[in-house]
Amino acid sequence: MLVSVRTLTARNSQSLRLQLCRSFTSGTVDGFTGAIGNTPLIYLKKLSEKTGCKIYGKAEFQNPGGSVKDRAALGIIKDAEASGRLKPGGTVVEGTAGNTGIGLAHVCRARGYRCIIFMPNTQSQEKIDLLKMLGAEVYPVPAVAYEHPRNYNHQAKEFAEQLPNAVWTDQFDNVANARAHYETTGPEIWEQTGGTLDAFTCATGTGGTLAGVGKFLKEKSGGKTQVWLADPPGSVLHSYVQSGGKLKERAGGSITEGIGQGRITNNLGTFVTDVDGSLHIPDEESIEMVYDVLDTEGLYLGASSALNVVAAYKLAQELGPGKTIATILCDGAYRYQSRLFSKKWLEAKGLVGAIPEHLKKYAVL
Ligand code: PMP
Repeated sequence: MLVSVRTLTARNSQSLRLQLCRSFTSGTVDGFTGAIGNTPLIYLKKLSEKTGCKIYGKAEFQNPGGSVKDRAALGIIKDAEASGRLKPGGTVVEGTAGNTGIGLAHVCRARGYRCIIFMPNTQSQEKIDLLKMLGAEVYPVPAVAYEHPRNYNHQAKEFAEQLPNAVWTDQFDNVANARAHYETTGPEIWEQTGGTLDAFTCATGTGGTLAGVGKFLKEKSGGKTQVWLADPPGSVLHSYVQSGGKLKERAGGSITEGIGQGRITNNLGTFVTDVDGSLHIPDEESIEMVYDVLDTEGLYLGASSALNVVAAYKLAQELGPGKTIATILCDGAYRYQSRLFSKKWLEAKGLVGAIPEHLKKYAVL
């Protein structure tokens, strides 16, 4: 049967329209919060080839608020709503180094809550500006240790207690945080690796990601998937794991924002004793990886993501070829670029020497 060109075109365009309609409806999500999660798992080609392993990074920078903490923010707010603590028109108060605050500020805007953030005054200007642009009220406070009564978390708690209809979301000890990762990030990684994951590693701030993802993977694999902690300088967790549970005093610091911990939070809980091992990653290696993944993979990552990639690479070397290893790409470098890509800042931190000559061209600020 002969079919005229016009009929063909009409039929084709009709079926194309139908296909588009179908894929549009099946691909839609419900608002900002509906877009959280289901992030891609990126195969890191160069590092995989170097080690003979399959190394993957979970692209959490693709969450709509730009970081892994969108999941925790949504989980915590949903939990506060479900328990009746957070009521329509209420206020959310949090102490945060930035990303949880940014996630909370987005979710608060989307759900009609007021958002108040207390943060240490050592954090990048980009994060402070963004929080304000998202309508949050920001209080930068001196960066003092958790034991100090003026620590940003205690100030957030006190503030919420004095404000009517306000909730302190308490990301460090509120286990709705780890639960969000147990219910979403962990299952996604398991499914994306077809249940063949040998090891998972990531650094911790609150511990929500490590404990939530780690617990899920261990349960699902019947204990076969190893979970390793990755820890920056100035954090006590690495030595805690290495010494079998001795908590030493916090000393020193790191250029990696959002990670490192001085205590065992509720979110980490007993899971910290279930990890299979721990890796201490010096800042020199994290900053080199920021530049290296940009150069070799085209990925523009923040320093905690880079630290995680270093940890995954070291774990691949430790476990030997043929293994499948996943880690978290927590956020993009956009949030820290005035630091990470500034020659002056790198010099002040004594980190210029950590960047190989052929990668120095990326330090353009
Ligand atoms: N990376 C960055 C950039 C973060 O902001 C955070 C959270 N503070 C983390 C990693 C650690 O995540 P978690 O709180 O789940 O341990």
